[in-house]
Amino acid sequence: MLLVALKETVVHEKRVSLTPDVAKKIIELGHQVSIESDAGKEAGYPNSLYEKAGCTVQKDLNDLLKKADVVLVVSPPSEKEISTLPKNCLLIGMLKPHQNQTLLKKLASHKVTSFSLELLPRITRAQSMDVLSSQSNLAGYKAVVDAASEFGRALPLMMTAAGTIPAARVLILGAGVAGLQAIATARRLGAIVSAYDVRAATKEQVESLGATFVSVEAEETGDGTGGYAKEMSDSYKKAQEEKLKEVLKTQDIIITTAQIPGKPAPVLVTEAMVKTMKPGSVIVDLAAESGGNCPLSEAGKTAVKHGVKIIGCANMPSRIAADASQLYARNLLNFLKNLMDKDGKGLDINWQDEIVTATNLTHGGAITHLAFKE
Ligand code: NAD
Repeated sequence: MLLVALKETVVHEKRVSLTPDVAKKIIELGHQVSIESDAGKEAGYPNSLYEKAGCTVQKDLNDLLKKADVVLVVSPPSEKEISTLPKNCLLIGMLKPHQNQTLLKKLASHKVTSFSLELLPRITRAQSMDVLSSQSNLAGYKAVVDAASEFGRALPLMMTAAGTIPAARVLILGAGVAGLQAIATARRLGAIVSAYDVRAATKEQVESLGATFVSVEAEETGDGTGGYAKEMSDSYKKAQEEKLKEVLKTQDIIITTAQIPGKPAPVLVTEAMVKTMKPGSVIVDLAAESGGNCPLSEAGKTAVKHGVKIIGCANMPSRIAADASQLYARNLLNFLKNLMDKDGKGLDINWQDEIVTATNLTHGGAITHLAFKE
């Protein structure tokens, strides 16, 4: 088979879908790999590394794609790329189907078999393919590093001859994959860390990382389906607001990561709360692209509002592109292996497999995914 990795066309996307060492593993299985020239450049993987791994590097899109069996991307491909894809090839990436019905129609009309990795079920067998986890993990780490560099003070307690600098207080809102990594990173940097989440199971996870759990007095828990959170009732939201209002005043850095699948991100830090925060505090809103946990954050922008620096994240994993690409490429390889025969020599797709049905968007000229069929 010929596998092709495209150069990403979406603005600010520095990641690449295939790294040289993952490409090498695919070649060792007996396949050919071509990459679009400079596909890995922004992530720190120049063409020469791919050539060394045994890949061919092509500049012309038509030459690159005309014999492709499998095409790999991070973000959705451009219209030009879709129209150049050969009929019946496989396209695998994070295709954002919820925001992109037009893309789905185009893929179907070009008879492309497409798979979107954000739709992977969170089952044990799919853990090694789970792009949301691998990318969120790095995003959680990077959010703390960015906050630390924007904060005009130190994070750890420092006792010096000139006096003592107190440890910074960091609050993490949302203790999922990104939030737990943010807790661990802030702890390593010496901050006093606390965290809050609506799901009951997170209390123990937060405490096992050495952080304090912020509890809201309420009967309701936020456990939804598949390990995700559900939207909370208005009375819970009121109790949550009261609690956070009190805690936020004492904090130096807030990292917000709260998401509810298929819904706008919940508002946790209101403008009124920002006004009560200490001057020079920093908020990093990892949910800025899905509406934001703070209404003052704007995706891709940093602004100072009421004396607080607010960083609205846009594509955080791309800011740590070398590692994000490496983990993403390994996720892809594991996903691909699941579509292959047991020796990895060719495709042998089990269309009844839960991983396949959950991720397959288009096949045989039609939109196949139940959630996106018209
Ligand atoms: P996510 O990105 O959808 O949300 C991030 C966090 O925000 C979640 O912990 C959620 O509970 C929290 N949140 C939502 N509304 C909130 C609110 N109003 N206030 C505070 N916090 C709020 O979630 P995620 O990080 O992708 O992970 C969700 C779950 O999936 C976790 O339990 C995780 O362990 C699990 N998971 C399982 C697998 C697997 O089994 N393969 C893989 C990855 C994650």
